Amino acid sequence: MKLDEIKATEATLLLGTYDRYPLLFTEGSGVYLKDENGDRYLDLLSGIGVNALGYAHPAIEEAIVEQSRKLIHISNLYFHQGQAAVAHRLTAATGMDRVFFCNSGTEANEAALKLARAYAKLRRSEDMPLGTTFLALENSFHGRTMGAVAATWKDKYREPFDPVMPGVEFVRFNDVEDLKAKFSSDVCAILVEVIQGEGGICPVLQEFLHTARELTRSTGALLIADEIQSGLGRTGKFCAYQHYGILPDVVTLAKPLAGGIPLGAMLSTDEAARAIHAGMHGTTFGGGPLACAVALAVLSTIESDRLMDHVTAVGTYFRQQLEHLAKNHSEIVDVRGLGLMLAVELDSADLAKHVLAEMMHRRILINRTSETVLRFLPPFILERAHVDEAIAALDNILSEQLASTAAAPASGGQTIGR
Ligand SMILES: *Cc1c(COP(=O)(O)O)cnc(C)c1O
Repeated sequence: MKLDEIKATEATLLLGTYDRYPLLFTEGSGVYLKDENGDRYLDLLSGIGVNALGYAHPAIEEAIVEQSRKLIHISNLYFHQGQAAVAHRLTAATGMDRVFFCNSGTEANEAALKLARAYAKLRRSEDMPLGTTFLALENSFHGRTMGAVAATWKDKYREPFDPVMPGVEFVRFNDVEDLKAKFSSDVCAILVEVIQGEGGICPVLQEFLHTARELTRSTGALLIADEIQSGLGRTGKFCAYQHYGILPDVVTLAKPLAGGIPLGAMLSTDEAARAIHAGMHGTTFGGGPLACAVALAVLSTIESDRLMDHVTAVGTYFRQQLEHLAKNHSEIVDVRGLGLMLAVELDSADLAKHVLAEMMHRRILINRTSETVLRFLPPFILERAHVDEAIAALDNILSEQLASTAAAPASGGQTIGR
């Protein structure tokens, strides 16, 4: 089927959850995708931060082929070779002690929420007063299931489905006084994206994260770091909290963990894990042999190819180039982010929409979040030449835009096509 036919069929047969761009991709290689006409796109979004090794990476291909010949699924009733091996690497890389495997980001957060409630209950039975409230941050995004969405800031994600999980209070982003005011022994956990992704690539302040760590430590509540978008090396360290010199009690991972095969993980300390025993939580698919084999290949490649150092080097270059661009274009009001988790904030949502559309026209994929923010989550294998290509396109689009607004009559209303 061609794009138009697929579009028409989907419109009648699929639940209307997505407003897709009119692009039909059929294959990819490295940092490039190919559409149905054979046109090549530079992918600076990598499937929303999932395809960290790009497309058709030989390590992933090999892991899938080999493991699929042996065992794809077995359930969590039995042992297989993958979970212990992946858990070994994840705990070593994060400083956590234990791992629960699932299939997605929202499920990892769901496990974290359940762990926090169970741990608070255990503490109450040990005569420690810990309540059931969660603190989350304004502009947070933690997923779409009833628990994770309850901790997600935007009304439009929650309100159609009310009542979602009760017991979540939102703290103003990076407002230490608001955090202190809302924290009490009623709180069982604070959830933090160390760098907010959907919220517009906004890093939490050092003082805010340290205060969250001290407050939770003072009562025994859990500090949960949602590293689903920022983890696995995207910021140049395995987890973004490692830039801050703190250790959370719980870490959630997903997006790039198995290179595009669904896999999520909730990691915790031994202390928090005391609250969970056999039968309390589980999943049919989570941590299956195929997903674990691919995760092992992803983790091994990140290590053997020194990809975190590469992310730091290319990410620093990318950021410098964006900052340079901002000097020449006053419509850029901010450049943010770490490693290859970067953003440019523009002065209007319309301009951001226009730039995104023009980038797509020039066959470069980026994403717009929080209305005015252009988000870059490229594969870790990105090279400087790709950065240069993207920067030249952005420079060109913003210059043309400036020329077109200057050429438009004062009454406005005229849009100049290409
Ligand atoms: C994407 C994301 C999630 C949700 O992950 P899904 O796999 O879509 O359920 C949760 N938290 C953060 C920070 C994310 O970026």
